Amino acid sequence: MRTIGLLGGMSWESTAVYYRHINEAVRDRLGGLHSAEVLMRSVDFDDIVALQKADQWEKAGATLSALARGLERAGADCILICTNTMHKLADTIQSAVSVPLIHIADTTAEAVKATPARRPLLLATRYTMEQDFYVSRLRSMHGLDLMVPHAEDRATVHDIIFAELCCGMIQDASRQRYLDIIARARDEGADSVILGCTEIGLLIQPDMLDIPAFDSTLIHADAAVEFSMVGHNASRQDAA
Ligand code: GLU
Repeated sequence: MRTIGLLGGMSWESTAVYYRHINEAVRDRLGGLHSAEVLMRSVDFDDIVALQKADQWEKAGATLSALARGLERAGADCILICTNTMHKLADTIQSAVSVPLIHIADTTAEAVKATPARRPLLLATRYTMEQDFYVSRLRSMHGLDLMVPHAEDRATVHDIIFAELCCGMIQDASRQRYLDIIARARDEGADSVILGCTEIGLLIQPDMLDIPAFDSTLIHADAAVEFSMVGHNASRQDAA
């Protein structure tokens, strides 16, 4: 099995979801006591948020690149940045290592394109919804007719991520605000929703919606498991 390298802690609330989901997926595939080969480097998220707010992305890129190199040196066969937002630095981090970086926008877009959905609403941080690194990748490279919420709704989505979800607070009132934003977008033509922030799955699950939802966290974690299994006999071994 190949070793999965996680750059986590952004926030740890969602990195915990990655760790659980990756291990459950390996157990589902291999059975018995099998679990994933994982290396994780988890940061103090407060430091990263300070760099985001100060617009010091280069410094954040240098920090995360050094940590990715450490994961590679320790034996990681791939790198996952466990946040959509910090994929703003994906090229920088990829160029710091020789193992592949599994890109969350690409894995999520591929999952959308495997269905009839083509006009997803993106729910994410303001960085992800408003800057070019993610939106144009989905539009130009993947050909999706991506929608983003209106300005006021973008602020709501962003504030709930940082003030609540990244702090482990799950509130019914905030869930309702997200559901209202999704309903408005659906009325304007959205045919699906991308949960494009790794904590949103803690608040919204697909069975709460009447259009398909694509959870970037679970999709990204599944892609890592797929990668880890290449060359491994993936048949269930628990019966043996
Ligand atoms: N985990 C979030 C994301 O997927 C936001 C935290 C961050 O700013 O990295 O974008």
